[in-house]
Amino acid sequence: MATYPPDRVTFVRGQGSYLWDAEGRRYLDFLSGLAVTSLGHAHPAVAQALSEAGSTLLHTSNLFATRPAEEVAATLDRLIGGGGKVFFANSGAEANECAIKLARKWGGHGRYVVVSAFGSFHGRTLATLHATGQPAKHEAFQPLPEGFRHVAWQDLEALERAVTPEVAAVLLEAVQGEGGVWPAGQEYFQGARRICDERGALLMVDEVQTGLGRTGRWFGFQHYGVVPDVVTMAKALGNGVPVGACWARDQVAQAFVPGDHASTFGGQPLALSAAQAVLQVMEEIDAPGRAAALGSYLGEKLAELPGVASVRGLGLLVAAELVHGGAGQVAAGCLQRGLVVNAVTPSALRLAPSLLVTEAEVDEAVAILGDVLGERSGGGTGGPEPSRGLQP
Ligand SMILES: *Cc1c(COP(=O)(O)O)cnc(C)c1O
Repeated sequence: MATYPPDRVTFVRGQGSYLWDAEGRRYLDFLSGLAVTSLGHAHPAVAQALSEAGSTLLHTSNLFATRPAEEVAATLDRLIGGGGKVFFANSGAEANECAIKLARKWGGHGRYVVVSAFGSFHGRTLATLHATGQPAKHEAFQPLPEGFRHVAWQDLEALERAVTPEVAAVLLEAVQGEGGVWPAGQEYFQGARRICDERGALLMVDEVQTGLGRTGRWFGFQHYGVVPDVVTMAKALGNGVPVGACWARDQVAQAFVPGDHASTFGGQPLALSAAQAVLQVMEEIDAPGRAAALGSYLGEKLAELPGVASVRGLGLLVAAELVHGGAGQVAAGCLQRGLVVNAVTPSALRLAPSLLVTEAEVDEAVAILGDVLGERSGGGTGGPEPSRGLQP
C-alpha cells in the first residue's frame, strides 16, 4: 500500500556501517533503519544466534517457557535497575499498548487516562496513535480510543494541571525522537516523577528509540536521575529482528494476571535469541560507553560544518539543525553521494549510526554532508551530478 513515499533505493546487502544497493553501489548508513541496527548490519553474533535458533527451536507458544526469553528478561531487568518484570511484544507500538493496558489495569475503575506530550511519537496502533501527541496524524482515524490527554513538552506546569485523579500514567520519551531529537532534560523528568508520586500516577518512559545504549546510557532515563515505573523498548533490541518489551516494577506488573494480555509471537525463541545475542555483544563492547564517546565526536565534527547551525541529542542519537533548512533535499543529496541520513524535521537531519561506528566512518559521513551543504550554499561547480553511492 502507498503508506511510504515512492522512488526509494533498493538495498540488497549490509555489512557493519555499510549498505549496498541493487546496482552494487555502497552507502554509509548513518540512520541504522531508524535506530534499529545498533550493532551494524550482518553482525556475526546475531547471525549465528538466528541460524542456531532456526535449527533448534523457533516457536512454542506462550503456554510453555523458553530459555532465551527468561535470560533476556533477566538481563533487561538488571540493566534497567532491577525489581521488575517483562512482557515481550513484537514492536514498539505493541510494547506501548502493553504499557497502556497495564496502566489501566493498575489504575482500576475511573483511573485510566494516559497523559503524553505534544510532539511525541508512541506508535501507529489506534491507542498508541492517540498517545502520539501529533493531532494532524489523528484526524483521518477518528474516533480514536478514549483516555488520552496531551500537554506541552517540557512544561511542568501543564503537567501539574493535566495529572488529575483520572490519570493512571504519564508516558514520556527520554528524547523525543520522531519529534526532532529533543532530550527531555533532568529537570523535566525529575518534575514529572515528583508529580506522578504526588498524584499516585505511573511514570512510563518510552525508550523504543532511546533504549539499549543509543544515548550513552543503557536507557535514556538514566541520564536524568529518576526511576520510572514502566519502561518500553523495541527498535535496537533485535538489531533488526522484530521484538519489543515492556518492563514494569514488580508491584505494577502484578496488576496483570493470566489472561489479561498475550501475544502469539511475543517472546518466541527466534526473536529472543537475537535479543540475547544483541545484549551480550552490547555488554561486551560497552555499547553505551561507545555511544557516548562517538556521539560527542560526531557532535563536534558536525558543529564545525558552516551549514550546521546547531547540534542536539544524546549519545549517538543526534540532530543537526541546518542554517538554510531544506533538510529533505539535503538528505536526498546525501543519499545521492552515498550517505543515509533522515530529515527528522524540515530543517534538521537525524543521525543515528551503529554504536560500533568508527571515527573514520564519522569523518567520512561528515565530509559527505559538508560537500552537500557546501554545494547548496552556492559553492556549486555546475559540474555533472555525481553518480549515486560511494566509489567502491
Ligand atoms: C519507533 C517508535 C515507536 C513505534 O515503534 P514500532 O516498532 O514502529 O511500532 C514508539 N515509540 C517511539 C519513541 C519510537 O521511536
